[in-house]
Amino acid sequence: MRKILLVILDGMGDRPCPNLGGRTPLESAATPNMDRLAREGMTGLMDVIAPGIAPGSDTAHLALLGYDPLEVYTGRGAFEAAGTGVDIRRGDVAFRCNFGTVDGLMKVIDRRAGRISSGTAELATVLNGMRIEDVEVIFKEAVEHRAVLVLRGPDLSSDVTDVDPHEVGAEVLSSTPLRPEAQKTARILNEFTRKSYELLKDHEVNVRRMEEGKPPANIAMARGAGSPPDVPPFSELHGMSGAAVVGISLVEGVCRVSGLDIMDVPGATGGLDTDLGQKVEATIRALGTHDFVLLHIKGTDICGHDDSPETKADFIAKADAALGRLIEGLGDLEEDIVICVTADHSTPCCVMDHSADPVPLLVWGKGLRHDGVETFGEHAAAHGGLGKIRGKDLLNILKGQAGRAEKYGA
Ligand code: ZN
Ligand code: ZN
Repeated sequence: MRKILLVILDGMGDRPCPNLGGRTPLESAATPNMDRLAREGMTGLMDVIAPGIAPGSDTAHLALLGYDPLEVYTGRGAFEAAGTGVDIRRGDVAFRCNFGTVDGLMKVIDRRAGRISSGTAELATVLNGMRIEDVEVIFKEAVEHRAVLVLRGPDLSSDVTDVDPHEVGAEVLSSTPLRPEAQKTARILNEFTRKSYELLKDHEVNVRRMEEGKPPANIAMARGAGSPPDVPPFSELHGMSGAAVVGISLVEGVCRVSGLDIMDVPGATGGLDTDLGQKVEATIRALGTHDFVLLHIKGTDICGHDDSPETKADFIAKADAALGRLIEGLGDLEEDIVICVTADHSTPCCVMDHSADPVPLLVWGKGLRHDGVETFGEHAAAHGGLGKIRGKDLLNILKGQAGRAEKYGA
């Protein structure tokens, strides 16, 4: 049985860009390593969730790990929480939170408390660990004004509306249940919001901020309730151990909830300046101890959102060079591995957001089939031997290639 390396370039799929002479960033970039794998392997296109659906990075990664997001997805809150390192359990309800600034009438003055960048850990400590009725409150700061809230206790539900009004000048909302069983959760969330104002408004961090003329972070506003999906752990579902080298907390959360081991990568930022060398090292290390490794690289998606086709092409070229070093670093393992390079969705520069365009895909392994496609790109892959697949089938295909498929029938 072979090991499997799945390389995900976030949002890599694109459309023809006028600035690149009508080529996509992937087609325009110098990618000798991906081109070789495409030439020696099989290519195709993939609807990561389903045809016509523009995937989020969370739902996409669920699908790529072999789960059906249309069945199991319960919102991003749980993944955000897991991505900050909060241990999240079945039955918990998680929310994304902002530290915000409100006046005495609970009217929002700043949804991000002046993009507060220090002191949030001290503020979070005050909120973390409180009990409301029989529910435990877990609260942890994340980057800048962001934080996560997890409610843990009996009979909770994620079917509640946001407290965050999503606009300045509006009053903080009262959460309402979307079904009768969610009444308790809405009540607890409203009580938490009220208490957060009481506990934060005179906190010394905020007293200092006000002295400095900065907006105080005097409320925690929750949104996007979610519960962890009820999914079997990756190792149970696929009969192999798995690890992930990831660039952003949302994807880390999906991997964590799925039971993958998260590799520690110094210098990984999730931005264009991420240390690809460190990620390569971590991936090689992970392959030494695990059957399956997911390597996620975020930069490509950022360029799509920014409408920067040239930067996207440059970044893809850098990722390709990193892939080259990775393959070199495999040593003898190169004989015994199946490599897949693809994306979690398209983020076309001209759309500046995720689109429903299927993503290109290549699958390579020594001695496996090839299909006559010579380069790796959106248009070339449309002629590839894998045809057009769905994301949730990808891992089965890779397992088949890796000699890990179970026989169905006698
Ligand atoms: Zn993505
Ligand atoms: Zn994106």
